[in-house]
Amino acid sequence: MTELSHNPDVVILGAGAAGLMCALTAAQQGRRVLVLEKANKVGKKILMSGGGRCNFTNYFVEADNYISNNPHFCKAALKRYSPWDFIGLVERYEIPFEERQHSQLFCLHSAKDILAMLLQECAQVGVEIQAQCELQKVEALAADGASRYAVHVVINGVRRTIECHSLVVATGALSIPTLGGSGVGYELAAQFGLAVTARRAGLVPLMFSDQTRALCERLSGLALPVSVSCQGQTFRENLLFTHRGMSGPVILQISNYWAPGDSISIDLLPAEDAAAWLMALKHEQPLTHLKTVLTYKLAKSLVAELEVLFWPSLAGSKLAEITDQQLRQVGEQLNHWLLKPSATEGYRTAEVTLGGVDTAGVSSKTMEAKQQPGLYFIGEVLDVSGHLGGFNFQWAWSSGYSAGLVV
Ligand SMILES: Cc1cc2nc3c(=O)[nH]c(=O)nc-3n(C[C@H](O)[C@H](O)[C@H](O)COP(=O)(O)OP(=O)(O)OC[C@H]3O[C@@H](n4cnc5c(N)ncnc54)[C@H](O)[C@@H]3O)c2cc1C
Repeated sequence: MTELSHNPDVVILGAGAAGLMCALTAAQQGRRVLVLEKANKVGKKILMSGGGRCNFTNYFVEADNYISNNPHFCKAALKRYSPWDFIGLVERYEIPFEERQHSQLFCLHSAKDILAMLLQECAQVGVEIQAQCELQKVEALAADGASRYAVHVVINGVRRTIECHSLVVATGALSIPTLGGSGVGYELAAQFGLAVTARRAGLVPLMFSDQTRALCERLSGLALPVSVSCQGQTFRENLLFTHRGMSGPVILQISNYWAPGDSISIDLLPAEDAAAWLMALKHEQPLTHLKTVLTYKLAKSLVAELEVLFWPSLAGSKLAEITDQQLRQVGEQLNHWLLKPSATEGYRTAEVTLGGVDTAGVSSKTMEAKQQPGLYFIGEVLDVSGHLGGFNFQWAWSSGYSAGLVV
C-alpha cells in the first residue's frame, strides 16, 4: 500500500485469522476497510499452524469445545458462521483438504493456500492492508462527529492519524511473541473500561522436575497413544516424551485444564483393563517374564523406565512368580500413572492464551463492546479458547465474520 485511504469506515488492528475474515466480510458489505498489522508479514500464525498444513476447522464444532468464563458466549457467532461456511469458501477456491482423526480438517498441500485465499478475498473487495505499522495510541472522538476513533500510528518512520467509524481489535493474544503475540488488545480493552480475565498459556507442553524430567529426557522422541485426565476432563490421543517433559496432542489438550499443583493421570493402556489383561496372561503364559509381556503393548524403553520406578523387585520375575495382588498393582500403575507437572512451557510455545477480554462486556452477536459503541474485539484476544482440532481458527472465522457484518 502506498497511500493510506483518508477515510476508512473501519480500521482493523491485526491481520491474522480473525482480522482478515472481518476485513473481507466488512468490505463485502460495502465498507471501506483498512487493516493495520504490526509485523512485516500478515497471517504468520496461519502459515505456521497445523505443522504448515493449517487445521482450519473441524466437522463437529460445539460450545463444549471452548473454554470461557461464559460457555454460552461463542454460540451465536459459531451459528452465524459455521464450519460449513468456511468449508464452502475453501471448496470455492478448490483448495485440497483432508479429514484427519477427530474430524479435523487440514490443507492437503499448505497453509499458504488458506492465507492466499483470505488475501484474494480481501483484494477483490478493496481491503487495504498496511504491514509494519506501529500503533501509538487510540483515542475516542467526540460523539457528534462522523468518525468515532482516531488511531495514531507510525508507518515507515512517519506519524499518521487515521480516523474511523468502527475500530476492530484483532491483535490476538500472548502466545508465541515471535509470531505476533502481544498484549495490546488487553491494554485497549482496559483503556475503554472492559474487564480482562486472568490469562495463562494453553495448548502447551507440560514440564516436570527431578526424576520425571530425567525420565522424559531419556524417552525423548517416543510417542504412544494414551488417555490423560485432569480436573474431570479426559482426552485420548498421542503423548510425546520430550527432553523438557511431555507434549503431543493429548498433553496440549489437557494443559488447558491443568493448574499449578494439579496432578494428571495417564492411562498407558487406554483400551485395556491392564490388571485383568495381566491376570489372563499369567494363566496363559506363566513362564513369560513380566517385562516381556509388557512389551507386547508398550515400547521396551518405556517398560524399562516403569520397571525402575514402580516394580523394581519384579524386574527378573516370571508371571507365575508374581502374586495376583502385585500384578493388580502393576495394572493399576499402567492405567493410572499419576504425575505432578511443575509448570507449562509458557507462552513461548503455547498455541493459545486462555482468558482474555471479558465477554461480559461484549455483545455475543456483534462482538461490539457494550459500553463503547464502534469498538469491537474478535478472535483470540477474547476470553474464548478452543480445544486442539481446528476450533481456534473456527472461532477466529466466526467472530471475525459476526463483527464484519455490522462494523
Ligand atoms: C504454532 C501454532 C499452531 C497453531 N495451529 C492451529 C491450528 O492448526 N488450528 C487452529 O484452529 N488453531 C491453531 N493455532 C491457534 C490459532 O493460530 C489462533 O487461535 C488464531 O491465529 C487466532 O487468530 P487471531 O486473528 O485472533 O490472532 P492472530 O492470528 O495471532 O493474529 C493477530 C495479529 O495481530 C497482529 N498484532 C499484534 N499486535 C499488534 C499491534 N499492536 N498492531 C497491529 N497488529 C498487531 C499480530 O502480528 C497478528 O498478525 C495455532 C497457534 C500456534 C501458535
